[in-house]
Parts: sequence; C-alpha cells; structure tokens
Amino acid sequence: MDRLIVSVSGVRGVVGESLTPEVARRFGCAFGTMLGTGGTVVLGRDTRPSGADLRDAVTAGLLDTGVSVVNLGIATTPGTALMTVELGADGGVVITASHNPGRYNGIKFFQATGTALTAGEAARLKGIRESQRHARVGAGGRGVESSDDTVHRRHVARVLDVCDADIIARRNFKVVVDSVNGAGCIVTPKLLEQLGCEVIHLNGEPSGRFAHNPEPIAENLADLCAAVRESGAVAGFAQDADGDRLAVVDESGRFIGEEYTLALAAAFVLRHRKGDIATNSATSRMVDDLASAAGVRVVRTPTGEANVVEGMVREGCILGGEGGGGVIEPRVVSVRNSLVGIAFVLQYMAETGRTLSELVHEIPAYVMLKTKLPCPPGAAERVVAAAREAFAAREGARLNEDDGLRVDLPRAWVSVRASNTEPIMRIMAEAPEREAAEALVAEVRKIADTTIGDRP
Ligand code: MG
Repeated sequence: MDRLIVSVSGVRGVVGESLTPEVARRFGCAFGTMLGTGGTVVLGRDTRPSGADLRDAVTAGLLDTGVSVVNLGIATTPGTALMTVELGADGGVVITASHNPGRYNGIKFFQATGTALTAGEAARLKGIRESQRHARVGAGGRGVESSDDTVHRRHVARVLDVCDADIIARRNFKVVVDSVNGAGCIVTPKLLEQLGCEVIHLNGEPSGRFAHNPEPIAENLADLCAAVRESGAVAGFAQDADGDRLAVVDESGRFIGEEYTLALAAAFVLRHRKGDIATNSATSRMVDDLASAAGVRVVRTPTGEANVVEGMVREGCILGGEGGGGVIEPRVVSVRNSLVGIAFVLQYMAETGRTLSELVHEIPAYVMLKTKLPCPPGAAERVVAAAREAFAAREGARLNEDDGLRVDLPRAWVSVRASNTEPIMRIMAEAPEREAAEALVAEVRKIADTTIGDRP
C-alpha cells in the first residue's frame, strides 16, 4: 500500500489505497474547522475520473463543519485559486494530483488570497486532521452547497487584462496545445480563440484518461513535438493535468526545456516593466542574467510555491515562478498559471517578430544537471555543513542556506538539499558548459558520500 503524502503543497495518494473518500472527507472537516463555521469554500477539480467522488467527500466534510461550498466543476488550479478571490471566499480547494499519473489524486488548499497555504497553515490543517477535533454543527447549521459555472470565462478575462490580445491576434498564430485530457482542455482553447490563434488541440478531451504521463517534460511530449513539426505551427504548449505548469516547444518541434517557460516570461515582462522577480533556489540562473541586464533583482526563496509567493509579496515582485514551468503573475492570481505563460510567450513573439528559437537563443544558455542519492535520517545537515565548509573559501562564492545549501559561484551554482517527501537528497548544478556542471555535482556527491559513509 502506498503512503498518503501530506505536505505543504497538499495531500496526494493512490486512489482507493491511501486516498479514499473517507480520507478526503476528513480533510474537508479539518479545512472547514480551520476556516470556521459560516465560511465559504470554492471547490474545483481536474478531470481524473476519481475526482467526482473525492469532491463529494470533501464537500460533505466542509458542510458538516458549517462551511458552504461553491462547486466550480472541472477547473484548473489557477482557475480555482482565481475564483476563491473573485467570489470573496474564505478558502479554496482543488481536487488534483497535478502532474502525477492517473492512479493518483490529491487535494490542494488555498487561502482567501488564492495563494497556497503557508507552511504554518498547512501544519495547522494537519494538526486539526490528526486530532480529529472537528467543528460540529447541528442540521440547522450545516453549510449550503451551490454551483458556479463562470470559472473559465473569468480566468480568460483576467489573462486578457495582462496581455495585449490585439497585437497577438494580428499574427493569426498557428499553435499546438497538449492538454493531456486534463483541466486545461476547456479553458485553454477559449483563451487562444480570443488571441486569434488557430489551434491544433492534442489530448483536448476533459476525460481524465491521460494519453501520456502528465508531467510536461521532454520524455512525455514526443507527440507534441511531432505535431508542431508536421503542422508548421509557431509553437507547441504542454500543460500538466491541473493547468498550472507549462512547457514550450519551438517552431522546429524542439522541446526547449521547462526552465525556459519562466525565463521567456521574465524576458517578456521586463521589456514592459521594471521590477524584481522571485523564484526558488532550484531555478535556472537564466532569470538572474535577464534581471541583471534589466537592472532588477532576483529574490531567491526556498522551494515550494507558497515560499515563492511569500517572497513576491514581501519584496513587491512583479513576477514569480519556478523552473519546472511555473509562471506566477500576481495581477491574475498568485498561483502558477499555464494560461499566463502561453499569453506572454505569444505576445513576446508577436511584438518582436521573432521566432521562438530566436527568442530562446537570445537568453544565455546553461546546462542544468540533477541527481539524487539516498539520505539516512539526520545526514542532510551533516552533508550541508561539510559542503558549506568546502565552498565557503571559494573565490566569489555566495552561500544561501534558506533551503539546504546553494552556492553561487561567478559562472555556476550548485545546491544540495533534503527532499521534503522522500528519504533522499537532491544535488543540482548549473553552468554554461556541461563539464563544469558535472564537476560541481561530482564534488558535492563526493562530500556527501564521505560524510554519510564516515559516520553511521
Ligand atoms: Mg500542476
């Protein structure tokens, strides 16, 4: 049996094993208790067939605590977050396991601001659920269930507010979109229609039967790359199952790498407005190069969407995001949003008259390498301490210990940190050349092996 994963980003498990309707109902009770009787929650779900039962279970739990529920039907994660704000709700819930395969499902929770829960709030929710001390109301105090079908229309409208639809529409771009039969299926063509695009929609049925693993990474997107090549489209866009992450394919059918989604969005935004950008410590340095050319700062935060948003709010950033294809435009809602990413990339192409490969070529290129190794309990701190000692005296080294250790060197960086969800450590390095990145990974790997091997 798999283990239910309860983290700051929500709950995730295999349906029928660790994640059952009863588990979902209890999380509904806990979230309702946390918000307080009389509150309202907006609830959406991605297209997974298990979503309807889990939605009903979470709804029952919320109603039992005296919290009312507004059902959105099938909605993306950013769409649900946006509706939490637009309807003035006290919180939001989306039933999704994001990029995980179809046998999984999960529950993500939002604050009234539409933002993911902070670590403190997530811990409080977990505590209420474990204590089972839920608010109980009599039949007269139960919440009320209603539905609202405006999520897609409102989401498109808010994205159109932050881009120039006329400039894009004049180009009559042909694009290919792979929505993996997930939550992006319904809303994405509506946006692209407003942007005057001709759309070839792969996996565009909101059936939840994923045509491939829903993570938008190279190995899952061969069909999208081929469709772009064969159709002569100017771009290919791949969404994950809940429509928050986006990966981009250029006009030659080449997958350009998910790190480029935020880099392209940042390059576009900085043409128009000067302001700081927030991203996590595992994201490519491409963003730093773009920011420094524009004379703005990059605010680095620990990994986790809530941390990035917290950094954005604290420092007044105009854009945020994560290297895995997550673009956060706070004027829409402070959640990663594939629709914003699509609109920004299209407008960037439209107003420069350049192809995607040309725009990518203008951004300084790096090679990013990632590796993981088993991490016995307590070993992570020792490895970080040993790596700190090894790198502290290195010329030009800047050390950041908000989240494990990240060492920025003049032309490269390397990081090591413990996973939040698995007993492993992750080592990442990025440099202009592969050999330099490999050398950094090898150096930290050796430190880890020595440290973990030395002391049992
Ligand atoms: Mg996702």
